[in-house]
Amino acid sequence: TKIIIVGASHGGHESAIELLDKYENVDVTIYEAGDFVSFMSCGMQLYLEDQVTDVNDVRNFRPEDITSKGGNIYNNHEVTAIDADKKQVTVKDVKNGTEEQVDYDKLILSSGVTPKNLPVPGTDLKNVYLMRGYDWATKIKAALTDDSIKNVAVVGSGYIGIEAAEVFAKNGKHVTLFDFIDRPLGNYLNHEMTDIIDKTLKDNGIQVEMSQSITSFAGDGKVESVETKKGSYPADLVIQAAGVQPNTEWLKGVVNLTDRGFIDVDSYLRTNLPDVFAIGDAILPLSIPAGKPSPIALATTARREAQYVVNHIFEKKPSQIFKGVVGSSALHVFDENFASTGVNEFTAERSNVEIVNSHYVDHIRPAYVPEGEGNVQVDVDITYDPHTHVVLGGAVLSTHDLTAQGNVLALAVEHKLTVEDLAEADFFFQPGYDRQWSLINLAAQHALGYAR
Ligand code: FAD
Repeated sequence: TKIIIVGASHGGHESAIELLDKYENVDVTIYEAGDFVSFMSCGMQLYLEDQVTDVNDVRNFRPEDITSKGGNIYNNHEVTAIDADKKQVTVKDVKNGTEEQVDYDKLILSSGVTPKNLPVPGTDLKNVYLMRGYDWATKIKAALTDDSIKNVAVVGSGYIGIEAAEVFAKNGKHVTLFDFIDRPLGNYLNHEMTDIIDKTLKDNGIQVEMSQSITSFAGDGKVESVETKKGSYPADLVIQAAGVQPNTEWLKGVVNLTDRGFIDVDSYLRTNLPDVFAIGDAILPLSIPAGKPSPIALATTARREAQYVVNHIFEKKPSQIFKGVVGSSALHVFDENFASTGVNEFTAERSNVEIVNSHYVDHIRPAYVPEGEGNVQVDVDITYDPHTHVVLGGAVLSTHDLTAQGNVLALAVEHKLTVEDLAEADFFFQPGYDRQWSLINLAAQHALGYAR
């Protein structure tokens, strides 16, 4: 069976290795339009912080990882068209412009997204950057040590913008962080925790400008300021981390797309074309807690979708639908670490999901362990359905790395556990790590009104 995969990032990589590891007699070819295979943007912050062996190592895989398993991979090869009747794709060698038609039995699209310029004047000025992929990563790295850059404006306070803000601040730049929503990381955390993040950012010298609407980037050839409805802010460099564009222009008129250009898939991740599947950032996955397709653009999502597609690709009609994803993220913001999962007060409202949230504050170990490094504060949110008590989201935030507890909440969301289930779940106790009841037990008991 001949399987063609478009895009050599998380979705393409996972599809290829799942196929090559699980099946014999598969002829697997990945086409990648870009030159570098396969930069891992998730590792960009570590690279910018000098915590990696080499920029060329920050990747999902090397071509030989696929060819050694019997697969094929071509970089600088862009798939430009699909002929569903002939079951062929047109592949263009972007180096020399030649095109060829290639047959497929099954086609997996993981063409992802490209970060978007803001729809304002001045995005073409020098030093207005985006943040994804190898080329932008190396440009941002160079800017960190460029003494002519003193003021950096970061637009977008999602985790990508926060990563950028932190790394520039740590390199001695004055950073202004903009968003049109009213709090940093508001898509991930509820207000009690964004208050902590807001303070942490400010304590570390970042100027936090929320509820701001950007009207233009101004400058003479090179950016000099960010103009908003409220004022003008000096900027020698702008990092735009607000919004993406699905890489689906080439599919228009052939593959059904949503009005924002995402590939329309059914519950089996099939497109409207026979034997053509789509995964990754280019689709909107089913969110388990929201119960509807939602923007959960994560490597974790792309890989689960790839695994699902490969597990069912040879069935005429897949025996099982794709169950959806929860959407979990973890991040450090200076000294704070958090993990969040599912919906929060902001995303629940956007998805029209009724929630209540319980915010619990505690110390991680028994009171006889002196407060300080060994016994620090932790904040836990449990977000749940007010009628059924099914857990729909949550977060854990502390200066101590308790991010793994976020995965406990993620599992609860995925398996539709209730707050009552979490209140009595049998977790370990050892005073070196926790209290007589484990953190998530306590947070759930608090939600039910009886924390110890
Ligand atoms: P993409 O990564 O978008 O890649 C698509 C690929 O397809 C590209 O290489 C592109 O060149 C190629 N392509 C597109 N069109 C064609 C075509 N027509 N022909 C051939 N090739 C084509 N996620 C996490 O889970 N955890 C993290 O910590 C995390 N950190 C991140 C940090 C940053 C700075 C960024 C930008 C993203 C981060 N993500 C993280 C998100 C994660 O990177 C994406 O969800 C993931 O890369 C999506 O994979 P994908 O396969 O859908 O496509």
